[in-house]
Amino acid sequence: MSQDVATHCPYCALQCGMTLRRTDSGVRVLPRRFPTNRGGLCQKGWTAAELLDHPNRLTTPLLRDRPDGDLRPASWTEALDRVEAGIRRVQTAYGRDAVAVFGGGGLTNEKAYALGKFARVVLGTRNIDYNGRFCMSSAAAAGNRAFGVDRGLPFPLADLATADTLLLVGANVAETMPPLVRYLVEQRQRGGTLIVIDPRVTATARQATLHLQPTPGTDLAVANALLHIALAEGWLDKDYIAARTTGFTEVRRVVASYWPARVEQLSGVPVADLEAAARALGTAERAIILTARGAEQHAKGVDTVTAFINLALALGLPGRPGSGYGCLTGQGNGQGGREHGQKADQLPGYRRIDDPAARAHVAAVWGVRPETLPGPGLSAYELLSALGTADGPKALLVFGSNPVVSAPRAARVTARLRALDLLVVADFVRSETAELADVVLPTAQWAEEDGTMTNLEGRVLRRRALRPPPAGVRTDLEILADLAGRLAPVTAAGAGLRFPVEPREVFAELRHASAGGIADYAGISWERIDAEDGVFWPCPEPNLPGSPRMFTDRFPTPDGRARFVPVEYRPADEEPTPDYPLYLTTGRVLAQYQSGAQTRRIAPLRTAAPGAFVELHPDLAVRLGIDDGDEVRVTSRRGEMRAPARLSPGIRPDTVFAPFHWPGTARINSVTSDALDPVSRMPEFKVCAVRVEKA
Ligand code: SF4
Repeated sequence: MSQDVATHCPYCALQCGMTLRRTDSGVRVLPRRFPTNRGGLCQKGWTAAELLDHPNRLTTPLLRDRPDGDLRPASWTEALDRVEAGIRRVQTAYGRDAVAVFGGGGLTNEKAYALGKFARVVLGTRNIDYNGRFCMSSAAAAGNRAFGVDRGLPFPLADLATADTLLLVGANVAETMPPLVRYLVEQRQRGGTLIVIDPRVTATARQATLHLQPTPGTDLAVANALLHIALAEGWLDKDYIAARTTGFTEVRRVVASYWPARVEQLSGVPVADLEAAARALGTAERAIILTARGAEQHAKGVDTVTAFINLALALGLPGRPGSGYGCLTGQGNGQGGREHGQKADQLPGYRRIDDPAARAHVAAVWGVRPETLPGPGLSAYELLSALGTADGPKALLVFGSNPVVSAPRAARVTARLRALDLLVVADFVRSETAELADVVLPTAQWAEEDGTMTNLEGRVLRRRALRPPPAGVRTDLEILADLAGRLAPVTAAGAGLRFPVEPREVFAELRHASAGGIADYAGISWERIDAEDGVFWPCPEPNLPGSPRMFTDRFPTPDGRARFVPVEYRPADEEPTPDYPLYLTTGRVLAQYQSGAQTRRIAPLRTAAPGAFVELHPDLAVRLGIDDGDEVRVTSRRGEMRAPARLSPGIRPDTVFAPFHWPGTARINSVTSDALDPVSRMPEFKVCAVRVEKA
């Protein structure tokens, strides 16, 4: 007997369609044609089911009785008693903001929504944020500033194949989202030009028509130079600028000083390459500019993305068929996860938590008084680095995240987690963060629960359960409902707060809560998602179509126009010095995902990518006396890591690269910088100053 269910991959924001087949011998992944992946999957997707019955799978809660003791198995009653008592103790001693929540960009929309509601109305804390803050908050802030909305791609993915010129900035899709590469191949087969901006010759850059290889942290100057050249050559769309935008005069004044020779000095990109890239973009009938983590994860990430948006607006791209600007979201539900309330400054529907009308609307849906809702809390890294301090949170609940590996300056974050009075981690494996917990709650996996995800296009999808969770395991919604039942106050209306455990019921409530917001899901039902291969938000009414293409007539700003914002280049927070003479940049490899808590446990992925490495140029290696495969130490002002050297002529001789999926001595986030963007509060993962030596 076999049973099939049509669902999506648990990992990245491409959310490839797949079929899960349950047979007597286990669960198999089969390809499924879906508009985004068209039957393609990467190695992570193919092997995703191997974790379902993995021997490391948690099936019972774990408790730590003494700070120096080991975790031991416990019953759910004992575990939840411990959580309840710990929360009450901390709240009584330190107040409600002393209990914090940290979520994840892999949680379904329903879970992200329930988590935000739980934090605000059950715990009454302002301190909730999530790891998506590390992922694309800079593009979100830049998108909101320019367009009045933040949706990764404001057009369907398939548009990429039709662009005459496609510019990828800091996006290594050949390793992070391999099925997306088919659109790049199609685009080039149609005669299109692919330009990649990246300090490394990545698998994606190798496919490019033109590769610009700037010094880490100088993308903003490159963008301003491209606009400078397009302006000088008369390639701007003056009618579009006049009719659909505001603020160009000041941007024109600023980019006047980014002449190509100056930007070659700043970035190392030759003038001829800057001119060729500007020409390809400026003379294309259809052009698309995409940014990803390489542009965003900087202390000036918002301004860097803004510089590329300015370029797109000046060329008249957003809203034109086959053209536009977009951001490639990373985590599976990075988009939906930040729309429904697990971000410190947001309420469901992408509403601002400091907006009185938004508070009134959401409070009415939740059955509480608006004034009882807390205000904005600390951003992800600020929250983690405040844990256990005199004024910071003393208890933390973690759902779907592993900050011990994925946060910047991770040794400091680890120390802060250790300083807590209570750390509760809900996960299905003993992640590095779970290993520090006082209470670990075993949760269901993606194939064991229904829900919705919102992919990189803003397309809301159905995740479908193949089987129930194993005995001893509960869903995140059940855990939140249990805790709400124990902790919840009585609402203003005198009735108990509702925390349904059925995802369909939670989605129905989410629709009401999002109605009228920027990310309006009111018209989206699970039935429509099934019938239409997903529905694009905003979709305010059941009888209206979704919005696959945005900005065709107007932008969702008060005057309907997009806003140019002048931005100036500034150096990275930490530039090389004689003691730390090299740039470090970090990123991903094909066979691992995020902190690796899941993918490091899957044998074929472990074989394909067994451990961290430090990539460096052969010329640099000669200077440092390092051979390929030598163990090297990478040291910054914050800490060090060790891994084997991997020599590659494809990296700049002034830069080294390491992937961030591994813990322990190979953890590159022991080294990375915790400088934050002033607007998005995103850390500067992509550049810091280091020293490299043979270990
Ligand atoms: Fe597709 Fe991403 Fe899953 Fe790979 S990890 S199969 S690209 S959704």
